[in-house]
Amino acid sequence: MSQHYAITMPQLSDTMTEGVVVTWEKQPGDKVERGDIVATVETDKAIMDVEVFKAGYLAGPLADVGATIAVGAALGYITDTAGDVAIAAGEVVEEQAQTEMIPHHAGTPIVMPQLSDTMTEGVVVTWEKQPGDIIKRGDIVATVETDKAIMDVEVFQEGFLSGPIADVGSVVEVGHPMAFIVDDAVKANDTGVTISADHKVKNTHKVAPPSADKPTHIPTPKAAPAHISAAGNVPPVARPQGRQASPYARKVAAQLGVNLTGLAGTGPSGVIVAADVARARPSMQEVAHSLPQVDVPGQGRAMTSMEKAVSHAMTASLTLPTFNVTVNINTAALTAAAKTKKVSVTVAIAKACSVAMAKFPRMNWAYQPVDKLVERSNHDFGVAVMSNDGGLVVPILHSIEKKPLEALQSDWTGLVERARVRKLAPAEYSNPTFTISNMGMLGVSHFTAIPTPGISAILAIAANGPQGTPFTITGDHRVLNGADVALYLATLKQTIEAPDAWMAGGATVAAEAVAGQAATVSAPVSPIPEGNWDFPVVIVGGGPGGEDCARDLADHGIKVMMVNNEPFPGGECLWRGCIPSKAWRAAADVIRNRAHDAEMGVDGTNAPALNWAQVEKHRRWVQSSRGDMALKADKGMKIDVREGYGEFADTHTLKITPVEGEPYTVSFGAAVIATGAPAFVPPIPGARENLATGGVVTSDTIWNLATPPKKLGIVGGGVIGVEMAQIFRDFGTEVLMLERNERILAEVEEEIAKTLIASLEKEITVVTGADIKEASGKPGAMTLRYANKEGVESVFDCDVILMATGKRPDTGKLNLDKVGVELDGAAIKVNARCQTSAPHIYAVGDVIGGYMLAHTAATQGRVAADNLLGHGSEYDQDKDCGVTFSRPQAGFVGLSVAQAKAKGIDAVEAKMPMSIDAKAMITGETEGMIKLVADKATGRIIGVHYLADHTDTLIGIGVMMVAGEMTLTQVAKAIFPHPTQTELFGELARRLLNRLRRTAKK
Ligand SMILES: Cc1cc2nc3c(=O)[nH]c(=O)nc-3n(C[C@H](O)[C@H](O)[C@H](O)COP(=O)(O)OP(=O)(O)OC[C@H]3O[C@@H](n4cnc5c(N)ncnc54)[C@H](O)[C@@H]3O)c2cc1C
Repeated sequence: MSQHYAITMPQLSDTMTEGVVVTWEKQPGDKVERGDIVATVETDKAIMDVEVFKAGYLAGPLADVGATIAVGAALGYITDTAGDVAIAAGEVVEEQAQTEMIPHHAGTPIVMPQLSDTMTEGVVVTWEKQPGDIIKRGDIVATVETDKAIMDVEVFQEGFLSGPIADVGSVVEVGHPMAFIVDDAVKANDTGVTISADHKVKNTHKVAPPSADKPTHIPTPKAAPAHISAAGNVPPVARPQGRQASPYARKVAAQLGVNLTGLAGTGPSGVIVAADVARARPSMQEVAHSLPQVDVPGQGRAMTSMEKAVSHAMTASLTLPTFNVTVNINTAALTAAAKTKKVSVTVAIAKACSVAMAKFPRMNWAYQPVDKLVERSNHDFGVAVMSNDGGLVVPILHSIEKKPLEALQSDWTGLVERARVRKLAPAEYSNPTFTISNMGMLGVSHFTAIPTPGISAILAIAANGPQGTPFTITGDHRVLNGADVALYLATLKQTIEAPDAWMAGGATVAAEAVAGQAATVSAPVSPIPEGNWDFPVVIVGGGPGGEDCARDLADHGIKVMMVNNEPFPGGECLWRGCIPSKAWRAAADVIRNRAHDAEMGVDGTNAPALNWAQVEKHRRWVQSSRGDMALKADKGMKIDVREGYGEFADTHTLKITPVEGEPYTVSFGAAVIATGAPAFVPPIPGARENLATGGVVTSDTIWNLATPPKKLGIVGGGVIGVEMAQIFRDFGTEVLMLERNERILAEVEEEIAKTLIASLEKEITVVTGADIKEASGKPGAMTLRYANKEGVESVFDCDVILMATGKRPDTGKLNLDKVGVELDGAAIKVNARCQTSAPHIYAVGDVIGGYMLAHTAATQGRVAADNLLGHGSEYDQDKDCGVTFSRPQAGFVGLSVAQAKAKGIDAVEAKMPMSIDAKAMITGETEGMIKLVADKATGRIIGVHYLADHTDTLIGIGVMMVAGEMTLTQVAKAIFPHPTQTELFGELARRLLNRLRRTAKK
């Protein structure tokens, strides 16, 4: 008779009562050996491997991925019978198969910290404490050598140091134990718990290689990772700090040399699975190792971590197509000025590089695979320093563009001291945006330096010669061309040779000054071309983008004309977008809120009735009042507002076709295009054809509905579709939403979207992966024919169909080719200053793509105006925000963790559910959460994400925190009133600070 054993949820800590299944590493039927990892589970502390100590075959039923299982309860089974993939209910389970999780009960492990993105292992250099020594919070117990520097290992737990301890000189993988801390001196070096061979210091556990005859299967529920095979017995890479990665993913990562930090995870709750690793770009290590190798005779010794890092980075630099440009610069004046200012020449040169770079921002960009450019405005320059042991260390002077010389000198003094002994914190050497190497001090007459992936230019400074000091830039040709570098070096030469212009202060105008204009220039210079124009500036389009731009220019005394092909300004936002939709939402809110009155103790309000005529009257009153106010304000500000259609006749002439009368032209110096983006209807049979009858509507025409439909079909699950779905649901409409993609709300932060979708699906029917075949019928009797992802066809009979399939700029009739304005897809291509490829023409708002939001358009309008007034102003998407007016409301400010990581920021987040907030409990608004995202290196808050009632108000706090670049400490210390939902921000900041403090390494 066959025997079955239960694999039970192991208990990791005294506090652990349950765990969540994250992955299955084996499938039913797979052979299992003693010590195999069969699953990973998430506990209250971390994701852990579940190891079994009984051989046999894995059998189901297995606990579902994502299921919460109590400690001691069965996760799955092991049977001794091959081919027995599931044991039947009622079959006898003999006993529990012994399971174990790593780490086990030797104490709290002190693990090798990950001190930089590239660090995968470290070498133990010293032990500062001995087994049995008392350990206090913040004690430094050891030093380790990483690929960049020698670092202290600090611990944040009290207790006593206990073995087994990794020997000095031994290599320990990141995340793996170096020693343990026990709570009682007598337990130190306690042999009651032995560290088995599987848990030895170098490899805490091993993953059995896949059997030769069977391709490895990655048990992820959704994504199809397909044939990724981690053959061989390579130890898995460490878990990335603060992230979850399946053991198999870590093993594949080790095989492929992929760095897990910053990789997006598609597993449950964002766990990194093997498929994510397979999709990732190769690391420097993989690039280096993938090159053909030439055999070298002799007995090699293993490289140290630092030697390896340099070797990988240098080989990876071969992927950069580089070129060199040299200019000789007389540094005498700079040297003298630096001496007077009491700053080092190195700091003065770094500042000069930054001042010159203000005019040539490309020098600070980087190529990002595949075919992307990272446009950075922060000047964080790496400057090479010789360490005491003769190696090169490259500490980073941060934010050079913002800091005065004195502050930079003070930063530099500390950095050099730490660099010389290789004791730099990771933020002090990671992710420079430009690098300077000054070998001139070693007397070399000329040299070139090698940029590595992540920067596009490196400056090599040689020794002073008869013609001056050679400054050679090696540039990445994918980002820079020869002219960029030549012009930059010419500006740098002027900056260095005339240092008084910028060293005396006013570095921001200095770049302008040295870039060809008079050295004394201090007033901003407007780029509006001189000429006898009818209008110095014309603006095409009177929505939020055009109107804000026109107002700012008029406010500064510029004669502006704004042409809009509608009788009143306000654009889509006022007439077809934000305002009317929120008027509907307000009525829907009143209906929805009544449903909870009884819970609060108020009876008799549960049968609200919709008065559609009054809803519409109120909406129209808001719109017409605001339209009237806007027009009066514009005219009052002396903006020449014209009704008509604008198109370019030539580079300085706009043709206007009014509603009545003949077309006419006006001449202009500069122009701003703010024409928006209409609703886009894809070529689904019947969709475009039925627009005319009103059987199919878009966000442009839904406002003509005579009554709310009884049944509404919505095609498209973006923000507009979701807002409309819930509004009409609250008005009593039955709604079916069809979405072509795998998930709706694709643009919303993942966890926020997931939670909102779960709520939404309780109210309306959502079909994702839908193939929409046809829209047919007549208004009041429409039919939507579609197939679901399994290919099964259905029809939905409804009164009307809303195509909420996005918006797309339509510039076909503007004659952009006549004026040299280029497109990027359907959108107008602009730089961060909102300037198009024609230098005197700017474009703002929906017509340039990106976030299609009213405040984004208005902000860009003000950026364009500012630039036309001669101030350097940029739109920073990383500080933008948005609200989805769903219930609860979703909102974002700044970056999500995934977005931050994609930009190379080591970001962390904390979240709080609304259900624990006192005010939310009082008002019964407990759905959702708030998340705070911070840059680990600086503690700056870079993102806030919401799913909460009143997000439209609470978001203001997030906006101020992100826009003001506030730190966690500042928010943690701020006093928020009780009981209000704002208290959560202080809580979140304190929680995140504490977490960082606990895990911080020096
Ligand atoms: C249903 C819906 C709800 C929305 N809700 C929100 C929200 O809650 N919050 C938010 O921030 N955003 C929201 N939006 C988006 C918001 O409406 C737009 O992002 C915003 O209006 C864009 O401003 P804009 O100035 O770029 O263009 P628009 O507002 O589209 O203005 C462009 C103007 O230019 C005119 N025009 C076009 N071509 C010409 C031409 N050749 N000559 C003269 N005039 C021309 C147009 O008629 C229009 O008046 C919503 C949109 C929709 C559809």
